[in-house]
Amino acid sequence: MCGIVGYIGPREAYPIIITGLKRQEYRGYDSTGVALINHHLQVYKKKGKVAELEESLIGKAVSAHIGIGHTRWATHGEPSDRNAHPHTSASGKLAMIHNGIIENYGQLKQELLNKGYKFSSETDTEVLLNFIEEIKNNNKCSLEEAIRIALKRVAGAYVILLLDADNPDTIIAARKGSPLVIGIGKGEHFLGSDATPMLEYTKEVVYVNDYEVAIVKADELILKNLGNERQTPYITKLDMELAAIEKGGYEHFMLKEIFEQPHTIYDCLRGRLDAKEGTITMKGVQDNIEQLTNASRIIIVACGTSWHAGLIAEYVIEELCRIPVEVEYASEFRYRNPIVNKGDVIIAISQSGETADTLVAIEKAKENGAIIFGIVNVVGSSIARISHAGAYTHAGPEIGVASTKAFTAQLVVLIMMALKIAKEKDTISEEYYSKLLFELEDVPEKVASLLKNADELKIIAKKYKNSNDALFLGRGYNFPVALEGALKLKEISYIHAEGYPAAEMKHGPIALVDEKLPVVFVATKDAYHAKIISNIQEIKARKGKVIAIISEGDEIIPSMADDVFAVPLADEIIAPIISVIPLQLLSYYMGVAKGCDVDKPRNLAKSVTVE
Ligand code: GLU
Repeated sequence: MCGIVGYIGPREAYPIIITGLKRQEYRGYDSTGVALINHHLQVYKKKGKVAELEESLIGKAVSAHIGIGHTRWATHGEPSDRNAHPHTSASGKLAMIHNGIIENYGQLKQELLNKGYKFSSETDTEVLLNFIEEIKNNNKCSLEEAIRIALKRVAGAYVILLLDADNPDTIIAARKGSPLVIGIGKGEHFLGSDATPMLEYTKEVVYVNDYEVAIVKADELILKNLGNERQTPYITKLDMELAAIEKGGYEHFMLKEIFEQPHTIYDCLRGRLDAKEGTITMKGVQDNIEQLTNASRIIIVACGTSWHAGLIAEYVIEELCRIPVEVEYASEFRYRNPIVNKGDVIIAISQSGETADTLVAIEKAKENGAIIFGIVNVVGSSIARISHAGAYTHAGPEIGVASTKAFTAQLVVLIMMALKIAKEKDTISEEYYSKLLFELEDVPEKVASLLKNADELKIIAKKYKNSNDALFLGRGYNFPVALEGALKLKEISYIHAEGYPAAEMKHGPIALVDEKLPVVFVATKDAYHAKIISNIQEIKARKGKVIAIISEGDEIIPSMADDVFAVPLADEIIAPIISVIPLQLLSYYMGVAKGCDVDKPRNLAKSVTVE
């Protein structure tokens, strides 16, 4: 969370920073701020989104060739002008932006208070900045040296970018835990939490590693570790085009990303799946096939939507590969002293590849000898780099805060992985293996076909938009889909929603059912179809409103449900990739009908780099 941007070079820094911040608003939008040096240090900051700061600066002299900018997701201190970044040090000479949390900031703050420091914000960031300045003054050392000393005492996660009014040709940056990308141009450098601020200027980037300090001048980039030793910057080629991060005519990124799914799923399959040949090519799986097939246990760690993908994978892997699977919330796993043995395989799933809890969870498991397999969307991200092996989801940049296309791509990767392991282990019949390969190949077309009927969901959404609550029910592979549907609705439309296994609703949630409660059934044709029909009857008997996602050709459910949306028929293992899409659309249209900011839902942010 929090987006950071920096620029140094011959161009005007301010427009590059503002555009870069807008592209990174998915990371937080509580407040915005920029610091520029042109003869002297200028700091502008404000509660609210980037456009609001931009508006307030029209006509102001913001010309500069060095600057940093921040879009915040508040952790310490409410969203306000005062708590907005950049923060300035007591001397007024240093300005700093920060993404992450300084866990021992309380102790550092007390030390500084004892020395007479005063603070104008409630943030941990201002504490770290003054701590750095205190060291600089006390030790009479360079800023770079002071940062190194300070960071050795800091607990937590951070990316920091500093400007020094006395040294107007350098940005100093450092990271641990939160992401930092530096774009290399000709006589200029760009900094960002991700690569989006620099896309149109350079394709050469360096992903800074933990515990590295970057000294960035227009024509020079020096990387050092905290021991002051030079590190060689590893330059990577960016594989992302500007068009991928623009709305392309859609009203919202979320809608664009939902509609992109036929392509993103195809991109995920492309070069990997060959149904005719009966092959799945996944290098990360192939290189570790022995460990994967012999794994006594697979533990999936993830958060949020990725955790739901993990739950579906649990069903699929156990069914196809006969390997026991546990699915863990990364935030719980990392703190509860879990039993992880040598030979266990950990699958870490994260869209951004930066999810703080997931990162730490896998670091711990790695220490215990587990093999880490990362499934991430963002190329070069931290989880991708610390995993032993992995597979990218190739869904392209996901900017809408609520995950959509990344989820379906995760499912595709997980199912392909399960099929490859099952084939190797001989726990799947030739016929079923081949059937599933052909079915996977057909998914993009099926998704394209259901998207043609998206307007039907718009009508359903309008009908139920004033509901206070909603229940999402499913069985088997569709149970985690129900959880995902409920999460999407909460995130986007602020309607309280709960997901349950359809049969489990009798053990509590059924008490909520009345004539006002919409109950969404994910009821595509599978082994439990007859059972879920009974569950629908149970809801109807209590006058609940039933919205059902059904398979095309189902003639029974339409006669009992209030509203239905039909999706193309698919094998039950493949069905979640398809049945989740109407739920994404339903929450999108409900959010829009209620006037919510669907791309930037309140209190949320993407790429959760704080615990
Ligand atoms: N801890 C800092 C603040 O509250 C940065 C938050 C973040 O990175 O999300 O302002």
